[in-house]
Amino acid sequence: MRFADVIGNGAVAKALSSMADSGRVAHAMLLYENEGCGALALALAYVQYLNCSNPSGGDSCGECPSCRQMSKLIHPDVHFVFPVNKGPKASDDKPTSESYIKYWRELAIADPYFREADLQKAIGIESKNGLIAVAEAKSIISKLSLTAVADGYKAVIFYLPEKMNQETANRLLKMVEEPPEKTLFIFITHAPEKVLQTIFSRCQSIRVLPLSKEEQMLVEERRPESDRDEYNEFMDLFSDLMNSITSRDLSSALECGEMMAALESREKQKAFCTFAADCIRKIFMIRQNMPHLAGISEEEMAFYEGVSEKCAGSFCTRSITNIEKVVSMIDRNVNSKILFCDLVNRLFLSI
Ligand SMILES: [Zn+2]
Repeated sequence: MRFADVIGNGAVAKALSSMADSGRVAHAMLLYENEGCGALALALAYVQYLNCSNPSGGDSCGECPSCRQMSKLIHPDVHFVFPVNKGPKASDDKPTSESYIKYWRELAIADPYFREADLQKAIGIESKNGLIAVAEAKSIISKLSLTAVADGYKAVIFYLPEKMNQETANRLLKMVEEPPEKTLFIFITHAPEKVLQTIFSRCQSIRVLPLSKEEQMLVEERRPESDRDEYNEFMDLFSDLMNSITSRDLSSALECGEMMAALESREKQKAFCTFAADCIRKIFMIRQNMPHLAGISEEEMAFYEGVSEKCAGSFCTRSITNIEKVVSMIDRNVNSKILFCDLVNRLFLSI
């Protein structure tokens, strides 16, 4: 991936290419983004630029052997770490990212703007929580202790360090603090407050900004068909829910709650919650007279405006808090029918 192919965040891309040009490459960096805003795309473009044998104009060439390996995510000195768990697609008893690397490559090449739920689905662990366990730290340390295959940088792109436990972090810490020469760690987080402080404090942090409405649309257009299907499924469910609530039809609203509980995995239920909270933030922005900042497409504007006219002042903030609570309860294995029924009741009462 070249910087030219990254959607949005031009200032971050410029900062990364300048850092590479100056030779003052941070050996540990933390990119903080809201899901799907392009931190992985930026990380890939940055590492590709650093290792390109023929860069020009602040970007990689896209054609040299190193760039070609990067575009297929098979560069021998670039490693990926992401949360995993046991599942039918890996035979290992203690799977690591390496066990699922084939699926990671397919997903990240098709759509570097994927969300965490897409990754869970791609590696076949939808019903489990992904974790970065100590086996992963051992594997990374052994990979980095080998001599680089090519002449450039060795890099570890570490997706969601917040899923790493203390033991894993302790194992990695020395490597992050004092990496071998020309070795860098790029951490990508959606929740910097959950990244262990020992790791966080050793990284140079960079904020990857939310995408504008136009940029979001470009990302959507590039997204594979199946992701757009999920967007439509979630949007249909969310609009049915809001229409039932605003027309004071409790039984239809509760039916929507049952459909939410029937989404096929806990990850998908959480993905829907994140989606619904994002939609409610859009309603909030309209109520604040800032619809231009909400990132709403023209065809959905009438729906959002309609809801915003019918809801009480405190609806948005209360609902977002309630939805976030549901996400944490799903993680604790609370029965989803009860959770979503309760959520619908709360939304119904606070409209
Ligand atoms: Zn190149």
